[in-house]
Amino acid sequence: MGEKIPTVEEQAGSEEVRYRKLYESDGRIYTRKISGFYQNIRRYTGLPLIVGFLLMPWLVIDDRPAMLFDLPARKFHILWMTFWPQDGMLLAWLLIIAAFTLFTVTVLVGRVWCGFTCPQTVWTLMFIWAEHFCEGDRNKMMKLDKQAWSLEKVLRKGSKHFLWILIAFITGATFVGYFTPIRELLIGFWPSIADSGFVTFSVSPVAAFWTLFFTFMTYMNAGWLREQVCKYMCPYARFQSVMYDTDTLAVHYDKARGESRGPRKPNEDYKAAGKGDCIDCSWCVQVCPVDIDIRDGLQYDCINCGLCVDACNQVMDKMGYERGLIRYTSEDELEHGKTKFLRPRLFGYVAAVIVMISTFVYTVETREPVSVDVIRDRGARMYRLSGDQVQNVYTVKINNMDRHAHSYDIAVEGDADFRIRGYRAMQLEEGEIFTMPVRVSVPKDQLESSKNTIYIIVTAKGDKTITAREKTSFIGPHVEE
Ligand code: SF4
Ligand code: SF4
Repeated sequence: MGEKIPTVEEQAGSEEVRYRKLYESDGRIYTRKISGFYQNIRRYTGLPLIVGFLLMPWLVIDDRPAMLFDLPARKFHILWMTFWPQDGMLLAWLLIIAAFTLFTVTVLVGRVWCGFTCPQTVWTLMFIWAEHFCEGDRNKMMKLDKQAWSLEKVLRKGSKHFLWILIAFITGATFVGYFTPIRELLIGFWPSIADSGFVTFSVSPVAAFWTLFFTFMTYMNAGWLREQVCKYMCPYARFQSVMYDTDTLAVHYDKARGESRGPRKPNEDYKAAGKGDCIDCSWCVQVCPVDIDIRDGLQYDCINCGLCVDACNQVMDKMGYERGLIRYTSEDELEHGKTKFLRPRLFGYVAAVIVMISTFVYTVETREPVSVDVIRDRGARMYRLSGDQVQNVYTVKINNMDRHAHSYDIAVEGDADFRIRGYRAMQLEEGEIFTMPVRVSVPKDQLESSKNTIYIIVTAKGDKTITAREKTSFIGPHVEE
């Protein structure tokens, strides 16, 4: 499959047609080890993220996991809060806020999310570390791949894949630990010998399947696919260009300073020879995790990781040139010498994010930990009691979404003397849903209409702040008779 590129000849009427592949793997990328400012930032941002990811399922708040997406019980425990299916809107809001924050950051400093904090980047960094640890730096890796199979090659490759699988399994198990209690999950993977003599595992088949699935996905994504994920699978790479403007900070090559590129002799007056500061050593390409040459200009594959900046700065130091031939800068700065940080588009994004976060926090803080649903019993319609009372029957569903048990009172509110009949307070455990019939009556002579609006109110005993109300209608006799 390919995208047809008409050649100059074709445009001129020739039959010759060239094809460019939409998916193209250039084979294994042998990355050169590099240290420097941006590599350190990658390490120091990646490390807390990994530690946070690994520890979160083990953290306990109020005797429950700090982060547990309990799908069978349809409850999401996030820190000290519990979200229910009816809170789905809040979770959607959270995702929208995350997306807008990402847009804002991208407008300001390009794809820093991709280069420093994206799980694909952080895990690939770990896998590359294991690769360098077992196989050595770039040249050693290339040599190892070329040489015939030997004990050394088996040991080096074997230990690399062992480390990759180990990291992938820890990742897979931890991820599943966000959906099922992690202690039980890991204990389930511990082998035991059955009476029959076979090795058995107590882990459930579903948990085992998902753990192995995510182990496999991590191994493939960070071990084998790497830059292919960023280039071909990640949708963010595709639409990032929409967010860039000429003042967005990104990794750029300073063409005016670097060209014309080329090697030079020591002590040569290269400027007099018409050369720029780029010595064409290709270090910037060798360290690039997505194997691109930033000197060709801004490319959608570039994840803004800054490794080429570190590499080029080292070269500049060795050559005794000023640093920053490749640097974080904007197109405007390169062309006109100045980056405009305060711009309307950025203000718009920041304002939108602030409004959304404030609304979200307010909604979460004022969220009632109880909900009530009321359905009028249409079969019963209405009837009189003792000649002067009109009664309607309702099905009332109370959902105690709080993290504690509560006893609830039910009341009714309306424009007449409505009363609840035959109700006793209900004790609901944490997370319990209780459904019951409730009778509401009113003296017939107080009804001014056949259809009246009333409110059913549920309040926790001893804590009047935990309350919920639902509007419903009370049908009277005027129309019916
Ligand atoms: S690392 Fe710097 S000097 Fe070397 S090729 Fe890249 S831009 Fe040129
Ligand atoms: S070109 Fe530079 S900043 Fe972009 S991905 Fe490659 S190394 Fe990272």
